Amino acid sequence: MVVDTLKQILPHRSRFPAKFRAIMANMNLKEESREDVEQFLWRAYRAAEQAHDGQLRKSGEPYFEHCYQTALLLSEWHMDPVTIAAGFLHDVLEDTALTAQDLKEQFGPEVYQLVDGVTKLSGIKFRSHAERQAENFMKMLLSVARDIRVIIIKFADRLHNMRTIKYLPLIKQRRIAIETRDVYAPLAHRLGMARVKWDLEDLIFKVIEPEAFGELVKMVRDSRSERKKYIADFVRPIKKQLKEYHIQATVVGRPKHYYSIFGKMQRRQVNFEEIYDLLAVRIITERVDDCYAGLGIVHQLYTPIQERFNDFIATPKMNGYQSLHTTVVGPRGKVVEVQLRTVEMDETAEIGVAAHWRYKESDQAKLTHMDRQIRWLRELVEIAQNDKSTPEEFLELLKIDLFKDEIFIFTPRGDLIQLPAGSSPVDMAFEIHSEVGLQCVGARVNSKIVPLNSKLHNGDTVEIITSEHQSPGYAWLKFVQTSKAKSHIRRFMRRAQLDESIRLGEEILQKILRRLKMTAVHKAIRKNPGRSGYETVEQLYAALGRGDVTVRQVIVKFTPEQLPQEDALERKLSVAPGRRYRKSGQGVRVDGISDLMISLSKCCNPIPGDEIIGFVTRGRGITVHRVACSNLPIIDANHDRFVEVEWDVSKRRDFVVPLKIVAEDRKHFLKDLTESTSKLNTNIASVDMVVEDGIMTLHMSVEVDDIRKLERIQNRVRMIPGLIYMERI
Ligand code: MN
Repeated sequence: MVVDTLKQILPHRSRFPAKFRAIMANMNLKEESREDVEQFLWRAYRAAEQAHDGQLRKSGEPYFEHCYQTALLLSEWHMDPVTIAAGFLHDVLEDTALTAQDLKEQFGPEVYQLVDGVTKLSGIKFRSHAERQAENFMKMLLSVARDIRVIIIKFADRLHNMRTIKYLPLIKQRRIAIETRDVYAPLAHRLGMARVKWDLEDLIFKVIEPEAFGELVKMVRDSRSERKKYIADFVRPIKKQLKEYHIQATVVGRPKHYYSIFGKMQRRQVNFEEIYDLLAVRIITERVDDCYAGLGIVHQLYTPIQERFNDFIATPKMNGYQSLHTTVVGPRGKVVEVQLRTVEMDETAEIGVAAHWRYKESDQAKLTHMDRQIRWLRELVEIAQNDKSTPEEFLELLKIDLFKDEIFIFTPRGDLIQLPAGSSPVDMAFEIHSEVGLQCVGARVNSKIVPLNSKLHNGDTVEIITSEHQSPGYAWLKFVQTSKAKSHIRRFMRRAQLDESIRLGEEILQKILRRLKMTAVHKAIRKNPGRSGYETVEQLYAALGRGDVTVRQVIVKFTPEQLPQEDALERKLSVAPGRRYRKSGQGVRVDGISDLMISLSKCCNPIPGDEIIGFVTRGRGITVHRVACSNLPIIDANHDRFVEVEWDVSKRRDFVVPLKIVAEDRKHFLKDLTESTSKLNTNIASVDMVVEDGIMTLHMSVEVDDIRKLERIQNRVRMIPGLIYMERI
């Protein structure tokens, strides 16, 4: 003790202002780490003071006073140095020239993250008064905060703002008070920060019901001396007995907070005098068993009211609150409420969850950020599970804490976007605007470039990079989460296919008509497309491209007299028709599922190397498709029927791939084709050829073991003169 006092007055300490020393005094530091912490916090103190230099609060005080009071509260709650430093600096990103970079460099990434979190929270405005909204808003605060210390700093910030609220215009006072009532006070309750909750509630009460508040304060004040005397009489024998039994304890009479008295008066329709548990005494002991010993003493001295006893030590409240509560009949028949708890429980009662963050140098230092996160969640869940008395509240707590299915993402402008968990930058892009989604090429997540299929996390700031030349691919369907993104991508792909058919149809038509020296027909078609049976030229091209109609059928409609000779235009050839084999279920693995029936789809014939996706068909197991398969269902309701699948080919084996090849009917085309495949040592499983109107359409199946082999074949085929078009079917 003496040494401590001496240290306080040593000359090198006194260079710090008394305000700063008050914070250091709250910190219970070991001597060996004192200097480092002191230097660190002093730098934060000075940096905040300088950054806010010249700024004033509405009260006329320097702005820094608010930063200081926030840090002071945090030190009273025994938070760790990083949190206190962030308390000093919590408004610099929003209001001063200090940048994220400055914070990171001068105070490290942890302080930066906390300040950034607080800044993000203040960007979220609570607008609706509906209860559900308040609930959602709380969830959002918690999930955006990520680190519970962000919430704790926010509480210190809010508490000081509420304490100085009288300097604001009345309308603003009300808005802030209502937000505090609907969001922050209930949240403080859930996090077990009873003291903070009471302080906030009294401050809210004062703003919202100024008259009732004033009256109540007066009544409490008027009855104070009488109450004090009564409490002293009540406590005296208890203290004596505690001493006799050598129980270390502090006994304090305490006033209830105004808002709870007011609440009771309103609920029970009684007046001030009739509130019987206005008198309350708290006994704070060193050890848990002393609580029970103390309870014995109280019950020996005063008659307990049976139904008003609660053992929240054995069964803590869902928010972690622990205490013994009893109500006894004191002198002159007055009812007195007595609470007994340990120092530690008392601190938990005051700051709740924050108590878990109490700065203990020994163990805290070892905890990594991640440990803390997990520990916090685990503790809350444990607390929730311990509580058997209030199942509704337990559920409420779970709703918030196991809030995992949604994430909140910031745009660079600070707007908040809500997405399903596991969402990618593409989901985010479509959420902003469909055009942004269709043109998105990449994203910066927290200023770092990431691939489009990255998973986003709560509180990320995401900037979407777009390019006019980008367009969506089927592969996107594999990782997007929102139905909005999915339907836009599918719609786009359908449109792209249509464009491709139109292009192909036009090309086929042109080539054939040129060959037949009938280009005039093309002009006639353009002039009067309706004669073809299709409304527009595009529709006709598309039908030609898809093969719904042949050029011959079109020509007939326009110049029946010039119909080309049938035999000159039509030839057919078939080699090994219909020869097909497929070994089902082999070569593909589905995560964690081995006994499900797996088969390769017949519509798109995937081969190793293809991007694939599994589709669950009721009663028929999983069918594996290429992600590019156009037969995949387009309805979004089916999205949970898609499963991830992987190639797992242990033995080399061949897969049959059908190709459709369209070419000009040139003498040696078929010869060139078979030559180029045999050069690559590839078996042709089957060939079907139809020549119509000078255009040759080949269906050829080749045997390959993977996509690379197929690509080599396709590259060869592309070099054959006369090729118009080739696709995998
Ligand atoms: Mn602030």
